[in-house]
Amino acid sequence: MTETRSTCPYCGVGCGVIIESDGAQITGVRGDPAHPANFGRLCTKGSTLHLTASAAVTRQTRLLQPMHRAQRGAAPQPLGWDEALENAAEKFAHVIREHGPDAVGFYVSGQLLTEDYYVFNKLAKGLVGTNNIDTNSRLCMSSAVAGYKKTLGADAPPACYEDFGHAQCLFIAGSNTAWAHPIAFRRIEDAKAANPAMKIIVADPRRTDTCEIADLHLPLQPGTDVMLFHGMLHLMLWEGWTDAAYIAAHTSGFDAIKATVRDCTPERVAQVCGITREALFEAARLFATSAATLSLYCQGLNQSSSGTAKNAALINLHLATGQIGKPGAGPFSLTGQPNAMGGREVGGLANLLSAHRDLGNPQHRAEVASFWGVPAVPDKPGKTAVEMFQAAADGEIRALWIACTNPAQSMPDQATVRRALQRCEFVVVQEAFATTATCAFADLLLPATTWGEKDGTVTNSERRISRVRNAVARPGQTRDDWVIAAEFARRLEARLGRAGTLFPYADAEAVWNEHRESTRGRDLDITGMSYAMLEAAPQQWPLREGEASGRSRLYEDGVFPTPDGRARFADVAYKPLAEAREARYPFSLNTGRLRDQWHGMSRTGTLGRLFGHVPEPTVQMHPQDMARRQLADGELVHVTSRRGSILLPVSASPELGLGQSFIAMHWGGEYISGRSSTGELLAGVNALTTPAFCPDSKQPELKHTAVKILKA
Ligand code: SF4
Repeated sequence: MTETRSTCPYCGVGCGVIIESDGAQITGVRGDPAHPANFGRLCTKGSTLHLTASAAVTRQTRLLQPMHRAQRGAAPQPLGWDEALENAAEKFAHVIREHGPDAVGFYVSGQLLTEDYYVFNKLAKGLVGTNNIDTNSRLCMSSAVAGYKKTLGADAPPACYEDFGHAQCLFIAGSNTAWAHPIAFRRIEDAKAANPAMKIIVADPRRTDTCEIADLHLPLQPGTDVMLFHGMLHLMLWEGWTDAAYIAAHTSGFDAIKATVRDCTPERVAQVCGITREALFEAARLFATSAATLSLYCQGLNQSSSGTAKNAALINLHLATGQIGKPGAGPFSLTGQPNAMGGREVGGLANLLSAHRDLGNPQHRAEVASFWGVPAVPDKPGKTAVEMFQAAADGEIRALWIACTNPAQSMPDQATVRRALQRCEFVVVQEAFATTATCAFADLLLPATTWGEKDGTVTNSERRISRVRNAVARPGQTRDDWVIAAEFARRLEARLGRAGTLFPYADAEAVWNEHRESTRGRDLDITGMSYAMLEAAPQQWPLREGEASGRSRLYEDGVFPTPDGRARFADVAYKPLAEAREARYPFSLNTGRLRDQWHGMSRTGTLGRLFGHVPEPTVQMHPQDMARRQLADGELVHVTSRRGSILLPVSASPELGLGQSFIAMHWGGEYISGRSSTGELLAGVNALTTPAFCPDSKQPELKHTAVKILKA
């Protein structure tokens, strides 16, 4: 038996694993006791990884050779790699020559490794000359990115997991940590057990499992987080709980936000948020007066038409109280996907450039162009996820390359996404699994390696970079994602009359070394971090050349990466939801994760035991709402929004407030069928969700859709 150290491919906690293998077969997995994210622990998903990589599962679910469809709707036929990549390069070159570089788009994934991400980003921005590269991280963390930059000056989570043990108050907002980040939650439980005086506040419309550990639950109305945070700041000011010395020494813009929150009186906040004034007062008191307050937050803040405002309003509270830059204190976004952070680091979003550079900054564009040795990086902002599929549906984007993600299930407003995939002249899907809904729309399917088979790095929520290693040989004809991107790019270079020197990499380490050099002098400088160093132990960034280890906590000196070194209060306004409940659509629909499933279930859905926790999709409602509509547990209902309707059983859930409903995000077409408002066949909860997005982060509002629920 061989043992290989690697990282769990599921969530942003980034747990270390030891993969056991025998020849070509992965035979076991256990937590890596030496990994500082998990110290040997794994959750149900992580501890069953080896079973999802068995020979039987691989045979049934994996895409193992390139395939193409001569006609849409026909069964895909095998072809060789050379033919597949030549075909792809020819099609993309044709579209670029005929319609310009912005007629193509790349939609990639927070599941990709940093090396994969780097090559795709360079391919789009350095070779093709378009910023039309976005990722499913847009659905996950882009509001956190925008919130950090707006206030602290850089996309850098300032805290770390060790801070759970130093905090005296944990403020968990919009995160069911117990299910979505289970090993982080185990560490929170440990911290509470070691320090029973630590207070835990959970702000969430649902009474989730995370609330079981809470001293105070704030069951706020969906979408009212900004009002809650402004109300807390109002009380902090009124009670004298702000830290005037910290505000004066390290921040700017306080007067404006002070004026804005003047109207957010306890009475108004209680009425808008649906919580008691006493609970609001207690939350503000604990947050401000505890010796160290750490905020944890995730999709409840991010997946919102006010996502950036929610993030920024919460960070305002840390700045106003000086709860930042010291052990146990600070805002700490929990990353959804395993490498949403790494993708941001290489600039793999439509509005970013390598190493946290900004597309809108001419100097940053010049630096990246010079570093890559290309004449220029385009200045026109690229299409973000929702915009990209809308542009494809409108005929503006004609060729799409989709890697390691399943937009035909995961994107909001599925009717538009499916129209986009049908209208595109050429769709490439680069995937490990042949079972995803998006594969059905591909003209060309390219088989990729996945966990246990590929080599590279990922960054977790606390800025810690870990190695991902291949334990077994690549199955079938699969290739690593960065290799596929680079081989396609070399063929495209020739067709676009370029020198053919942009993608010289011999292995993943060569890609890493180039990315590493691109960070020199930036806030995330990792010029001191080599593969050899990461062999010994995962490391947090920044870690500059000559340094022996990274930094666990940022801003301890009170200096922020802004032009004047001061953090900025964000004067953000409370805005109502994009799609309010009204008489025809009287319920709020929330979506989210289950404990034992991951994304569209392409991996976790292969294991019967992971359905033990929740065996089937249901729409959850409050028992009183069900009684009023004479609905019994298990009865079929139509859940209908302005965009579509799906059919599924209803189940009683006292954890929800009145007028609210919840459907897990994982179930696709095999489980939930439906139709668009114009009659097209659709599947899954995203047949219903709204494409409305935050104006700053462009992250869609997956956490709220107005629906009606009627007996079938
Ligand atoms: Fe994997 Fe996340 Fe579970 Fe850790 S907590 S084992 S990273 S799914």
